[in-house]
Amino acid sequence: MTSGTYRSPGSRNRLESLDLLSILLVTESSDDVAAISIYRTAADRIELWYSKDRPCTEIEKANITKFIQSAARTAHLSKPAREDLLRIALRMCKRKVFACIYEARHLMVRFSRDGSYGIIPRASQADHDLRDAATIKLRRILGENDFPSGRSLEAFLTLLFQAIILAIRPGVPFDIAANVEFYFEAVIRCHALLQVPVIDTVIEGTLLGRLMEIADYYTAVAIAHREIQKLSPGGKAYLIRSIREIPPSSPTTYLTPPDPLTCLNHWARYRGLTLSSSSSPSSLPAFPGKTQIRECTHPEATLITKIISAHKSSPTVLRDIGSSRISCWICQEFSAAACDLYPGICIRLSREMLATAGSWKFPVDTPACLVLALTRRVERAMGMVFEGVDSLGGIGRGVKRKIGEMEG
Ligand SMILES: [Zn+2]
Repeated sequence: MTSGTYRSPGSRNRLESLDLLSILLVTESSDDVAAISIYRTAADRIELWYSKDRPCTEIEKANITKFIQSAARTAHLSKPAREDLLRIALRMCKRKVFACIYEARHLMVRFSRDGSYGIIPRASQADHDLRDAATIKLRRILGENDFPSGRSLEAFLTLLFQAIILAIRPGVPFDIAANVEFYFEAVIRCHALLQVPVIDTVIEGTLLGRLMEIADYYTAVAIAHREIQKLSPGGKAYLIRSIREIPPSSPTTYLTPPDPLTCLNHWARYRGLTLSSSSSPSSLPAFPGKTQIRECTHPEATLITKIISAHKSSPTVLRDIGSSRISCWICQEFSAAACDLYPGICIRLSREMLATAGSWKFPVDTPACLVLALTRRVERAMGMVFEGVDSLGGIGRGVKRKIGEMEG
């Protein structure tokens, strides 16, 4: 259920890059999400806004600025400079990186039980040839010290996975903050693995997916480094001055959800509708066993509201928003509604796959016309859902009539 195209094909790479950059702002292992918005006011002038679902701490804000300053400081792109930057980034998001490695380790342990470690055996002469070529490429990337001559690709991977399994052991304390060098090595090696074209025929798919998440940190740092290095000294200084946190306009709250039938009754009564007598709790989907729902303004919504307030009188503005997590359906609708209301503003969010969120909260400074526009979109979508539920045929007809009145 979407409201049309949210992004043009040409913007895909830029938006995916923004999504990747936003993972560098995620500092907690779970329930932490960040979004960033880049605005190019001129070829050499970039403004960077970022937001999380809670206000950032002073340490987080200082780390983000330090990261950008470090990326701007080097006069050129070099491997040592990029690796220094990677270490700074990994200190920022050490808990999340640890969580990614821990998840991958979980799979490695599972695959170790049959001795395979998730490594697919060579099956043919063609496999031998491709893997021999892959071995040479990987050794060239990592160097002889890391990947000595005479060691097969499979032996290299087995030793790598065994080292990760042994580094984090249940019952043995692991100091997350003190192990940045361990994350650094893991990220460097995972990134190198993904440079090998046939790696998807060597490592089992689910494990490879986990390794890609770890490698993303290298890619994110490389993108930041490359883009910042494109700027002139004046452009770098402008970027550093323009870095700005946009905190959510209201604090996170928690609510205890009512049961689904009470919820539906409330929704119907509010709209002057009557529930069909055939409606019963068993015909409704249950809430997924949560006693409390966390309510917060999503960072994309915070940024969208800020963009409107900053640019509502601008003739044309293009703002891209990247997010560390797939933007939810309501955020996408919120963006589409904002672009409809303010024709001079174009906001693009990444990711075509839409996810539903457990809760969503308007930023308190959302213009009333935008609240109404989004409410209408949600009403229309809910009507379509109820129309599709046979056991709620009575309310479905009522909803259809009501929507017809709203649109008429
Ligand atoms: Zn959202």
